[in-house]
Amino acid sequence: MDTQFPEQSQHLVDAIRAQTDRSIDLLINTHHHGDHTSGNTVFKELIKDSVAHSNSKKNQLSRAEGSDKVDQIFLPETVFEDSWKINLGSETVLMNYYGAGHTNGDAITTFVNTNAVHMGDLVFNRRFPYIDKSAGANIQNWIVVLDKVLESHNTETKYIFGHSDNGYDVVGNYEDIKAFQNYLERLLEFGEKSFKAGKTLEELNAETTMIPGAEEWKGDGISRSLDAVYQELS
Ligand SMILES: [Zn+2]
Ligand SMILES: [Zn+2]
Repeated sequence: MDTQFPEQSQHLVDAIRAQTDRSIDLLINTHHHGDHTSGNTVFKELIKDSVAHSNSKKNQLSRAEGSDKVDQIFLPETVFEDSWKINLGSETVLMNYYGAGHTNGDAITTFVNTNAVHMGDLVFNRRFPYIDKSAGANIQNWIVVLDKVLESHNTETKYIFGHSDNGYDVVGNYEDIKAFQNYLERLLEFGEKSFKAGKTLEELNAETTMIPGAEEWKGDGISRSLDAVYQELS
């Protein structure tokens, strides 16, 4: 699942190689961002297949074209639109796409027999999220996406998050998903209220350190939430 940067991926591959020389069945990219796909090149010769949502592949390619680095990336070979499934040993891996959230190409990956879900960057645990409007992010639909995730799993399911704030885990449960969904709802509400009151984005950025009703969310980068919500409302 995801590859961070080449250095981290090489470290992982070396650790795998110390235990086995069998090939790696599958590489999954949750979405296109550099901290999730830059290490793909390290896996290129080692994997049987790689998969991502079709928009994730498009975004990865267009970003590389924009910075003239197309020859330095490795794109997923298999793409899906709504869902995709594979049996690997005793595990069934199921990928779903419920529309735009953190980007327009976030896959939700369920390890069915383990009852675990990799959320990619659809959850930032107690840390202000990146909301990538330049890649089609949508806060309103993100809230719906999280509902669909919760509906299709149960209260025992373990969830893996793309990012967390210091002192918080990257693994959590139903309550953590609900708490992040509440962050997005309160962000929209706060944005609407401020927008209607005629506040400029500059004023809002200058005076806001937390989102009312979601004070657990902290860290750097609240402006990324405020910028995104204003873009979405206008
Ligand atoms: Zn991301
Ligand atoms: Zn990320």
